[in-house]
Amino acid sequence: MLVSAKEMLVKAKQGKYAVGQFNINNLEWTKAILQTAQELKSPVILGVSEGAGKYMCGYTTVVGMVKGMINELGITVPVALHLDHGSYEAAKKCIEAGFSSVMFDGSHYSIEENIEKTKELVELTDKLGLSLEAEVGAIGGEEDGVIGGGEVADPNECKMIADLGVSMLAAGIGNIHGKYPENWGGLNFDVLDDIQKLTGDMPLVLHGGTGIPADMIKRAISLGVSKINVNTECQLSFTAATRKYFEEGKDLQGKGFDPRKVLAPGVEAIKATVKEKMELFGSIGKA
Ligand SMILES: [Zn+2]
Repeated sequence: MLVSAKEMLVKAKQGKYAVGQFNINNLEWTKAILQTAQELKSPVILGVSEGAGKYMCGYTTVVGMVKGMINELGITVPVALHLDHGSYEAAKKCIEAGFSSVMFDGSHYSIEENIEKTKELVELTDKLGLSLEAEVGAIGGEEDGVIGGGEVADPNECKMIADLGVSMLAAGIGNIHGKYPENWGGLNFDVLDDIQKLTGDMPLVLHGGTGIPADMIKRAISLGVSKINVNTECQLSFTAATRKYFEEGKDLQGKGFDPRKVLAPGVEAIKATVKEKMELFGSIGKA
């Protein structure tokens, strides 16, 4: 069964740990993440970007696959299926398709329009018992072609959005999507602390979790971050393991051309990455 992310994040905030959002791209990704969460007794959030949703043949296909897998694999830990960086329209589509959580990213709108649209979605998701993530201020890097500049959110705007009754709030604190540049200045903990002070119990979300040093992740969690998004890191480990398989000529040995064999090392690599992140976030054994 899919659950809203609200309860798991409230618990995480109270317990001073974070729940990982791991983005999925296909069956192998989903299976690897679900199995690792179950094995480690950790709650988990499966992230789906609009692009990945399209790639996987639409949101209803994604819901069917995830629900089927939870059932067939006997997954009992809390799993939220979450739209990542959704438009207003995509959020509505995902709600209809059966997602248990959505992110409405109105950070590119004016704060007034962001508030207006977020408010409408709060009403809709509240009625259905789903969780809603909102975002204030652009987060740097690139996600599905959208480029930001490592921006930092205004804590007062964060409070305005938090007060609408969203379940979790993403706010830029110098984090970036994708790989971090060598001259990156690190997370802005002063701003994070200000946001946390103004928004109180609101679980905060850290996007762009790939490549942030472990000590910064831990400090961010201590300052109220209870959801951390991981996407690029699984892609990097999957691709490195797959490349190794071909470089070692394993596809040319015996039945090594079988796609299930070809994809196996990548799946193991995703599992290892997810495990490493869950250890760092402190979510193991919290399900
Ligand atoms: Zn993001």
